[in-house]
Amino acid sequence: MFETLKEQPADKILMLMQAYKEDPRTQKVDLGVGVYKDASGNTPVMRAIKAAEKQLWESETTKAYTGLAGDPAFAEALGKLVLGDAVPAENVAAAATPGGTGAVRQAFDMIKMANPKARVFVSDPTWPNHLSILKHMGLEIVPYRYFDNETRGVDFVGMIADLHQVMPGDVVLLHGCCHNPTGANLNISQWKAVTELLLEKQGTPMIDIAYQGFGDGLEEDAAGVRLVASSVPECLIAASCSKNFGIYRERTGLLMAVSSDASAKKLNQGTLNYLNRQNYSFPPDHGARLVTMVLNDPELRADWAAELEEVRLSMLGLREQLASELQRLSGSDRFGFIAQHRGMFSRLGATPEQVEAMRHDHGIYMVGDSRLNIAGLNKTTVPILAEAIIKAGC
Ligand code: PMP
Repeated sequence: MFETLKEQPADKILMLMQAYKEDPRTQKVDLGVGVYKDASGNTPVMRAIKAAEKQLWESETTKAYTGLAGDPAFAEALGKLVLGDAVPAENVAAAATPGGTGAVRQAFDMIKMANPKARVFVSDPTWPNHLSILKHMGLEIVPYRYFDNETRGVDFVGMIADLHQVMPGDVVLLHGCCHNPTGANLNISQWKAVTELLLEKQGTPMIDIAYQGFGDGLEEDAAGVRLVASSVPECLIAASCSKNFGIYRERTGLLMAVSSDASAKKLNQGTLNYLNRQNYSFPPDHGARLVTMVLNDPELRADWAAELEEVRLSMLGLREQLASELQRLSGSDRFGFIAQHRGMFSRLGATPEQVEAMRHDHGIYMVGDSRLNIAGLNKTTVPILAEAIIKAGC
């Protein structure tokens, strides 16, 4: 019967990773997959995570199942990191998931259960996996304008105009910070305007936050999420620990269903537990436990926050170096947006031909839509990229 299956499109980013591996050139630069890399190209295990793992190895006495929603201490600790004091804990139902992707998937599932006809508004562009999962699940996708190809900033006028079409029962997917793939983000007054519009239109926000601490800082990056969560009757928040705790392969995420009415928590929690049960039963625990230990131990937490800040500042430094190198080579400020963008990614705004020329002529691998992973650079490769960008005629 499997002969009836259709060939599925390969993931473009994973294909790019493979092509990079197979490229025999020694001077090649991988700006593809969204993984943080330090100056020598390594993705280190963070110090606090390593310390927590050691403690856990010594103290863990059982590997018996946790609850369907995972360890409540994880939901409490990560919920607090994301939401701060914006909403009371009794209004938040939460379940651990396999990574942020798991949280996104369960969120879409919950939306579909509540309203199979929900339209999900997504930024144009968005993380391709949002589209792929929505399509797989048969939920209707409505793109809203987001990226201004001229300024390489947010097309806020276009975004608001498109969100005027939201109707009750629709969902609006927002990136909490560090927009993937563009790097262009809403400022707090824009978050306010979006929140007010969603209140007026009675649309439900869903926020995907996968890079807290990679943009302007741990608190700053959560400001939009907190504003929304404290203002609307209900919202969903999908949080990932892959990047900010550096535990990609441990698959650690959390889905939160926030309600302004505490009486909704029981139903929401039951639904989240049910969804975990249907899809994989108990969520992975190892990464969640490490995150909980790090967040609840003042010393580990301080060390983690300090290392995360080093990561954030190193990316900011690379952004500034690249922007100023490009200013020098082009004699113009047109690449200033690179220093304004936040997070791991920037969309350069190059054509697919220019992206291909940079790969072919200079061994620089970026995603076909000209998304580049800033963390794939170091002080030596920034000038190489800048020259390739200019030579490609960007
Ligand atoms: N959302 C966005 C926007 C992302 O960029 C990512 C990571 N690529 C995720 C969610 C989920 O990541 P993970 O499943 O690895 O935690």
